[in-house]
Amino acid sequence: MSVSDIPEGYKAYDAEGISVLWNPPICQHSGNCVRGNGDVFSKNRRPWIDPAAADAEEIAAIIDTCPSGALKYILHKES
Ligand code: SF4
Repeated sequence: MSVSDIPEGYKAYDAEGISVLWNPPICQHSGNCVRGNGDVFSKNRRPWIDPAAADAEEIAAIIDTCPSGALKYILHKES
């Protein structure tokens, strides 16, 4: 998946190394993301996702625990 083909319904939050994608209607509010890293995923902040707050690989590993598919990511290839 590249930055140019973000799936329909997803919002993109971009940082160096990663774009985090979120689809609000399918979020199940399990909280896995917030528990994974509260600096990246915080419900008390807008925007609630700050992909610059951790390493891209760490964020990707947390997103892999999202049970609903509401969170996805695109890792940017190093040039
Ligand atoms: S882990 Fe996924 S389903 Fe759970 S709160 Fe986060 S975005 Fe929503």
